[in-house]
Amino acid sequence: MSIVGNIYHAISTMLGGDSCMICGGYADSQTHHVCTRCRLSIPLTRYYLEEENPVKDRFSSFAPIQHASALYFYDSDPLWREVIHRSKYRGQWRLAYTMGRWYGEVLRDTRLYDDVDLILPIPLHPIKILKRGYNQSAYIAEGLAKEMDVKVDLRSVRRVENNPSQTTKSGTSRWENVEHIFRVCHPDRLQGRHILIVDDVLTTGATIASCITAIYNAVPDCKISVVALATPGEYTLK
Ligand SMILES: [Zn+2]
Repeated sequence: MSIVGNIYHAISTMLGGDSCMICGGYADSQTHHVCTRCRLSIPLTRYYLEEENPVKDRFSSFAPIQHASALYFYDSDPLWREVIHRSKYRGQWRLAYTMGRWYGEVLRDTRLYDDVDLILPIPLHPIKILKRGYNQSAYIAEGLAKEMDVKVDLRSVRRVENNPSQTTKSGTSRWENVEHIFRVCHPDRLQGRHILIVDDVLTTGATIASCITAIYNAVPDCKISVVALATPGEYTLK
């Protein structure tokens, strides 16, 4: 958001008005604070409309997955790449929640995710939570849950290793780096359920894959779907 956009947003909020969470322009509450121009400009993947799509193909290659998708391509437009960055590193958890509600509307309309029982955001390690102050994926999950009318599960799976950022690693080392970093603490809560795993952005997919593996190892009798807010245009899982 530009400086002018930030000022507009601050004044608008003080006056009880509404401004777009993305660009700072006008947006009423009916649109969850995302203006029409932004809604038309987002580079949507449309993967969520298809039972089979590139994101699902990648995860299905190693584990049974019900559905998988991402809302938009984050690498083709600086504005939309910035949305991920702002919600993750600049304390803008409300933006993560807003995007989650938007995505939740989209998923609800597809009907593909109707039988999801609970939403499980990829857990952050407690040390990272302390540093960042929040888990952006948890806010995306809360937005999804609001629109899809299901509960968010923040306790059944924990991150037990604070692995370094994967963006500095490549190839096989990314996979090795995320092995065994999650622990299922309450398998009984996941037994027989359809779990929707949520992350903010797909990079290698290795973190999500590690979480899926941990859940299936602890709870063989469950179904898993995966959604991320954004994905690179050329998505590859290594
Ligand atoms: Zn806007």
